[in-house]
Amino acid sequence: MQVLNLQRIIYLSFAFLMIGIALLFIEEPEQHYTEASADTVPLENEALPVLEEPIPEFFTLPANPSPGDFLIVGAGPFPEADIYEISFNFPGTASEHLIFADKIYQVIAIAFDTEPGDYKLFLTPRAGQDDEISYELLIEVCNKEFSYSSFTMPPSRIDGWTSEQLALDRERVFDARNTTEPYPLWLQPFISPVEGRVSSPFGAVRVINNNPPRRHNGIDIAAPEGTPIEAANDGIVRLADFLLSGGNTVIIDHGLGLSSTYMHLDEFFVQEGERVYRGAVIGTVGMTGYATGPHLHYEVNIFQRPVNPDQLISNDLMLLPPAYVINLFEKSDRL
Ligand SMILES: [Zn+2]
Repeated sequence: MQVLNLQRIIYLSFAFLMIGIALLFIEEPEQHYTEASADTVPLENEALPVLEEPIPEFFTLPANPSPGDFLIVGAGPFPEADIYEISFNFPGTASEHLIFADKIYQVIAIAFDTEPGDYKLFLTPRAGQDDEISYELLIEVCNKEFSYSSFTMPPSRIDGWTSEQLALDRERVFDARNTTEPYPLWLQPFISPVEGRVSSPFGAVRVINNNPPRRHNGIDIAAPEGTPIEAANDGIVRLADFLLSGGNTVIIDHGLGLSSTYMHLDEFFVQEGERVYRGAVIGTVGMTGYATGPHLHYEVNIFQRPVNPDQLISNDLMLLPPAYVINLFEKSDRL
């Protein structure tokens, strides 16, 4: 009996010892660190994790753009990203800014006549937030050669045109490009709206009928009449109508001030206000308006400023969180 009790005591003591050792090795429960206040006892144990504020990043994509390119700008994380605004000292147009979680984003269209060289982007606190830090980022706008061409158009192509109607058309295009959703409507990279040969590149200097040289605001893609044209990405149709110069024209808003324009269509199958999705057939290639042969004039703008459509097809714009993702996180009812 005595032996049994002694054994039992030894076993129990051993078990308690093991539990004690085990407890020493169990991980500390997760702690929520708050900022130290005056009556907090300072921690002496160096082994405890020290929470550091992540250093904010201020970056662009691409790092070294060319005149006429998009520049995607991002900055963060910040405890309150919406106190900042982005500005720059080169000629260009910025999209709506986008705040998501602790970051701020913006897309900038660099003017295609920007002199190559070093420029700066600024991230500054908005008025009334003067105690916050400002940031600067140096970027180099590289040199880019734009092509030059000269051609004639038969005077009959402008028969019946009036300056009043041209002004009205310009105003409608202006309004369509200014009407936008404040969030990116795209979920995937942009696609080329039609397959074909680029007959006139973006930014080309063109002299038509000995008039003063003008820049080409989009790309011309030559394709047989009737070739289907697809929406380059998801968006909302802001204009679908006949214009004197553009012929049958469709303008799709992709959000943030970014739009795509399709001109000289033979036919179009969408109407203003309609929601369209990437790859949807919106019309067919034609030569309506100021055109000598069947082609698509495809143009991309940030508000009124044209940008390089070739660059659009790269994946850079996927850096921006789309409305769908923002919706999931914010549980709001946005598109
Ligand atoms: Zn064109």
